[in-house]
Amino acid sequence: MIEVRESPQHGRGVFAVTPIPRGTVVLEFHGPHLAAHEVAPDSYHLQIDEFEYLGASHEADDYVNHSCDPNCGIGENLRLLALRDIVAGEEISWDYSTAIDEAGFQGFPCRCGARTCRGLVRSFRDLTDTDRRRLWPFLMPYLRRKYPGVR
Ligand SMILES: [Zn+2]
Repeated sequence: MIEVRESPQHGRGVFAVTPIPRGTVVLEFHGPHLAAHEVAPDSYHLQIDEFEYLGASHEADDYVNHSCDPNCGIGENLRLLALRDIVAGEEISWDYSTAIDEAGFQGFPCRCGARTCRGLVRSFRDLTDTDRRRLWPFLMPYLRRKYPGVR
């Protein structure tokens, strides 16, 4: 269904090799569970709870790039779901701001190329109310519990 290869956006990326219908579980994020102090800033990590991170699995889930107009989103149990029908060859993406919520996080420049690009990948707390409401259904579950009023 998917493979890792060179991405025009950022080093490596994950691409559909067959059509993927909306609602399909594209992959599951996995890796060692780390506390905040165990996360090296430059190494791959994914925030999955207030003080908990996933480290690198060294599989496809490490290489899915961010997009401000993604074709996938976070579901339950660290699953990445297709938000719409995806055609073969399309790069798989999700919105990193649906998982990041660190105080003082400065963000990093976005090169996703979407017309709706926000320019900077930031913590969920730093997004506009409009973006927060739009992204709420695809939030990492710990953020849905943390921000119940955004919906
Ligand atoms: Zn963007």
